[in-house]
Amino acid sequence: AAGERGPGGIALVGPASGAPSCPHGPALLFVKTSQGKEEGRRFYACSACRDRKDCNFFQWEDEKVSETRLAAREEYNRNHRPTFTHRQNVERYKNFVLLPLSKRRFCQECQQLLLPAEWEKHSNHQFLCDISTAQLKSPSQFLYPLENKKTNAQYLFADRSCQFLLNLLIDLGFRRVLSVGTPRLHEMIQSKASQEEDFRVRSLLLDIDFRYSQFYTEDEFCHYNMFNHYFFGGEAARETCRKFLYEENGERVIMVTDPPFGGLVEALASSFKKLMAMWTETGKEGQGNKEMPMFWIFPYFFESRILDFFPSFRMMDYQVDYDNHALYKHGKTGRRQSPVRIFTNLTPSMIVLPVEEGYRFCTLCQRYVSSGNQHCEICNSCTSKDGRQWKHCVLCKKCVKPSWFHCNNCDCCALPNHSCEKTDSGCFVCGKAGHKRGACPSLS
Ligand code: SAH
Ligand code: ZN
Ligand code: ZN
Ligand code: ZN
Ligand code: ZN
Repeated sequence: AAGERGPGGIALVGPASGAPSCPHGPALLFVKTSQGKEEGRRFYACSACRDRKDCNFFQWEDEKVSETRLAAREEYNRNHRPTFTHRQNVERYKNFVLLPLSKRRFCQECQQLLLPAEWEKHSNHQFLCDISTAQLKSPSQFLYPLENKKTNAQYLFADRSCQFLLNLLIDLGFRRVLSVGTPRLHEMIQSKASQEEDFRVRSLLLDIDFRYSQFYTEDEFCHYNMFNHYFFGGEAARETCRKFLYEENGERVIMVTDPPFGGLVEALASSFKKLMAMWTETGKEGQGNKEMPMFWIFPYFFESRILDFFPSFRMMDYQVDYDNHALYKHGKTGRRQSPVRIFTNLTPSMIVLPVEEGYRFCTLCQRYVSSGNQHCEICNSCTSKDGRQWKHCVLCKKCVKPSWFHCNNCDCCALPNHSCEKTDSGCFVCGKAGHKRGACPSLS
């Protein structure tokens, strides 16, 4: 059945067996919808790229594809592989670190470490020179963040948030982190592991950004697409991941992911379930019926969508901050308010949030909450989602944003200046009715 609502009435049907492939792995099956109902033909499109400019793969589900076109497609996919394989990049790195500082160059245009014999070819490109060992350990600091809004905008953790996450994981007793789309967390773990002798945490990065293969071995990074659970490195890479999930010597694993926000929660959930299944299949005794522990970092307005797929998850109040984030809002307090939260299947009371940043423990809810999040006697819960104090509406029988008022026309609470006509189809970003994606208040 169709789940996700996309722009222009496109809904995701899901990953389908026997789906054709584009350079980003098996395509996803979509359907055109109208007024929330499925209709018309179903089609395959790229799983990773929301923007057809980045990957224009398209095929009707019932389309007959000629041999010639299939062959052309295969050739196209082959030609769209990266210049170097991961193995080659690992070899190149070994040679690179042997070079004296003065010969260590990085091409900013090609986003590639260069060996001296290659300088010539890049002579009219911009270089970063004297790449230090410290820099090589922090690639996310000098690779430029991918900025394509729809496909894979990279929003990197602010140091404070990254440090908080790592300390939290360590305090919870985890020794292995499956970092899915969290290169900066991976990098922090890797660099501590190489610098501090008694630091025992390990990380495996799964990410679609192949530039990272220049800095990490095949045991540290897998080129992976989290919208279709596709390992570009095939069975060997899958095996690397499987091995990593095996909790050797009682080293407990947690998965941390911070996916792009552009929708497709259903596709993400489907992949994450497959990663969880991989963990379960490693078959450690004592795992019981437990799920692999997970932190899914995502905006609070996706709460209901995430809970649809993972009913065991709870949203934590911690505001995850970013270095380069357009979603920063300047709240009334003048403090930057990030809408991004941690969703987890761990017991909420174990997620200790920093008191020095204003979080406090609600004994009734048995979890840490934002300073402004008041416990509502009627809901019997700390109800704020965005950190501001929410107010209870007796007619709606729930707490609502402080700026909302009950509208008798709409029979629900809304902004005072809302227009009363209801629209059927929900917003692509938050799934709520009444506005379209462009006007989503969550993204203002
Ligand atoms: N806050 C994180 C970065 C999150 S940005 C940090 O600082 O570590 C989203 C990440 O997901 C990026 O690293 C991006 O390369 C990756 N990504 C985007 N699309 C992806 C896909 N289809 N499959 C896997 N990773 C993807
Ligand atoms: Zn170049
Ligand atoms: Zn409470
Ligand atoms: Zn209430
Ligand atoms: Zn109301």
